[in-house]
Amino acid sequence: MSILIKQVELNGKRTDIAIEGNLITDIGPLDDACFDTVIDGSYSIAVPAFYNCHTHSPMTLLRGYADDMELMDWLNNHIWPAEAKLQEEDIYWGTRLACMEMIHSGTVYFNDMYFLLSGTVRAVEESGLRATIGMFLNDAAPNRDMFIQEGKELWNRRDTLSKRIQLSIAPHAIYTCNEKTLRECAEMSEKYGIQLHIHVSETMFEFNQCKEQHGGMTPVEYLDTLGVLSERTFAAHSVHVRDHDMEILAARGVHCVFNPVSNLKLMSGLLPLRKMLDKGVSVTLGTDGTSSNNNLSMFDEMKVASLVSKLANNSPIGAQVDEIYKIATQAGAEASGLNAGVIEKGRLADIVLLDANSPQLTPSHNLVSNLVYSADTSCVKTVICDGRILMRDGFIEGEAEVIENARRCAKRLMAAARG
Ligand SMILES: [Zn+2]
Repeated sequence: MSILIKQVELNGKRTDIAIEGNLITDIGPLDDACFDTVIDGSYSIAVPAFYNCHTHSPMTLLRGYADDMELMDWLNNHIWPAEAKLQEEDIYWGTRLACMEMIHSGTVYFNDMYFLLSGTVRAVEESGLRATIGMFLNDAAPNRDMFIQEGKELWNRRDTLSKRIQLSIAPHAIYTCNEKTLRECAEMSEKYGIQLHIHVSETMFEFNQCKEQHGGMTPVEYLDTLGVLSERTFAAHSVHVRDHDMEILAARGVHCVFNPVSNLKLMSGLLPLRKMLDKGVSVTLGTDGTSSNNNLSMFDEMKVASLVSKLANNSPIGAQVDEIYKIATQAGAEASGLNAGVIEKGRLADIVLLDANSPQLTPSHNLVSNLVYSADTSCVKTVICDGRILMRDGFIEGEAEVIENARRCAKRLMAAARG
C-alpha cells in the first residue's frame, strides 16, 4: 500500500509526501502514477500527529457523569461504584469511542492504564491507532487478582498483537501498590525492556502520606529507592515535586506526563513545567481520562499547558509555544520509543492534514502559535497512522456504529451503577 500526498504545505512550502508501507519514504516532487492512493493536498497543511502520554481510554463512558466535587467523594461515591459494573463490552466500545475522538483531534497514539484489557486491545487493533496498553496492578482493589491474571494472559499472547501495540507494566500508584509489587514491576520493566507507567505525586495527600510512611521520603525519592525510576518510566502528573526530585527525574531519564486540564479540574496542583524543562527533565503531555478532563483533545491540553505555565511563573513568559508543541508531538513519540513525531524521510508515517482554510489557522504568521493557541479539532481533515488513512476529509468508517454502541453501554452502566 502506497500513498502520495500531492502539493501539500509542509514547513511553509508546497511539496509531495510519499508513504510506502508504514514509512515516509520521500519528500519532494513525485509522480502520481507510482502510488495506489493519491490525496490532493492543495488546501492542506501537513503536520506531525499528537502523542497522548497518559489516559484511561474506556472512561469515555463516564464523561460528564460526575463533575465538580472533592476528589475522594468523586472516587468513592461515583467513579469506583460505576467502574465496578464495567464489562468487557463496555471497555471495547468505550475505547472505540476514545479512539474515534482522538482521530478527529489528530492524535495517533495513547499511553493507556485501565483494566479488562482484552476490550482495549480489540478496540486498538480495529481502530488503527497506536497504543501502549498497561498491564494494570492495584493491590488495594477488590479485583487485585483479576488484574494480575488478565495482565499475565495478555503478556503470554504479546507476539500475536499488532506492531502498533506495546505493552507496559502499570502499577496504579504508591498508595495502592505495595513495595514488593513496585520492585517486581521495576524488575519486569528492566528484564523485558518495557515501559513502566505509574501515577506519581498527583496530590498533596499522596505526597504527605508518603513522607509519613517512608521516613520523610517524597514519592519520587521513595520510587527511586525501589529502582522504579528509569528511562522506561512514565510518571503521570508529577505535580508535587521538589528540586531534589527533579534532579532525580532528570538523572534517571524518567518521562513525566503533564496533565494540566485534569489537574486543574480536580484541583491537584500543577507540574512545574518551566523548572522541569530548565532542569533537563523529559516532559510529555497527556489528557488523563475523560471523567476528569472531559475530552481527549491535545489542542485543548496544549493551550491550557501554556496558560498555566504562565500563571505558575507569574509571568507571560512561561513556556514558549515551540516547547509546548514539542511535548505534544515529538517528545511524546520519542519517549514512547516511536521513530515519529516529525515529518521526514525514514520516519513512521503518522501525518495529520489540517484544513488550510480554517478560520482558526488564518492568517498564518506562525503555524505553531496557531496550533497551540487558536486551532481546535475542527481544523483536522485527514489523519494517517502507520501508513494507513484513518480519517479522510472528516470521515471515519464505522463512526455511527461506535456512537450508537457507546450510548447503549453507557446507559446500561449507569442503570447498573445506580442499582
Ligand atoms: Zn490518570
